Amino acid sequence: MDCIFCRIVAGEIPGEVVAETDEILAFLDVMPLADGHVLVIPKMHARIVEELPAHTAGALLQLASRVSAALCSEFGAAGTTMGINNGAETGQTVPHVHMHVVPRFAGDGAGSLHSAFPGFAKDASPLPGIAERLRQQLAG
Ligand code: AMP
Ligand code: ZN
Repeated sequence: MDCIFCRIVAGEIPGEVVAETDEILAFLDVMPLADGHVLVIPKMHARIVEELPAHTAGALLQLASRVSAALCSEFGAAGTTMGINNGAETGQTVPHVHMHVVPRFAGDGAGSLHSAFPGFAKDASPLPGIAERLRQQLAG
C-alpha cells in the first residue's frame, strides 16, 4: 500500500487521530497552517470527491463539521476555513481525499479562499449561458 493516508488508516504509520467513525478518520495535519489544523478523510481510498459514495461524502462533512465546532469551542477559533484540493492540478499533494479544517482567528491575516485566486475575478455577463450549460449537465 503506497498511499500515506491509507497507511494511517491501517495504523501502519502514526497519526494524531482526534476522532473517527466507521467510515471517516480525523487527524492533525503534520505541517499545520494553524494550531489545530485537522485533516478529515474517508477510510476508503478515493482520489477525488467524485469517487466517494454519497453516504461517505455526507459522513465526511458531518465529522468535519463536528471538528470545526470543537476547534471553535475548545480552542477559541472564530471560525474555520474548510477546503479540499480536489485533483492534482489544484495543488492536491496526497491523492487520497482530505478536507482541511483550519481554525481561524481574528487578524490572522490568512484571507479567504478567494485570496487563492488573485486577479481572477471575471465579469458576470456570461453567467446565464454558463448556468444553462450546467443545468443541462446536472439535469436528471
Ligand atoms: P494537500 O496539499 O491538500 O494535498 O494537503 C496534504 C496535507 O497532508 C498537507 O497539509 C500535509 O502537511 C499533510 N500531510 C502529509 N503527510 C502527512 C502525514 N503523514 N500526517 C499528517 N498530515 C500529513
Ligand atoms: Zn489512500
